[in-house]
Amino acid sequence: MINKVTKTDEQWRKELSPEAYEVLRRQGTEPAFSGPYDQTTEPGLYRCAGCGNELFLSDSKYDAGCGWPSFVAPADQSHVELEADNRYGMERVEVRCSRCGGHLGHVFDDGPGPTGKRYCINSVALTLDPKK
Ligand code: FE
Repeated sequence: MINKVTKTDEQWRKELSPEAYEVLRRQGTEPAFSGPYDQTTEPGLYRCAGCGNELFLSDSKYDAGCGWPSFVAPADQSHVELEADNRYGMERVEVRCSRCGGHLGHVFDDGPGPTGKRYCINSVALTLDPKK
């Protein structure tokens, strides 16, 4: 069971960087190729920048060339929630953190490997915990 993290909008605004707030709490998207983890190959665990939830392992990260960190699968399927997102005239599937509800990015069906999934995630929504 995941303990949910619930905070007011004002609390989030105070605690998060302006960039992380915009993505996690306002469903924003960081500019392509701008994020700190786009090209990162360092081994470790990517946690939610909002609540620390364990989201993605570096083993599942690959370079999709799209400008955002891309993963074939979450560390644990129960740590993310998927939701239809039809904003901007596009049919996409939104990826949210299951603990704090923060917006992470979207998942697409053009990924490599057996699942064919590409979890396209905003860098600023993540914090890399390097492997020790
Ligand atoms: Fe979270």
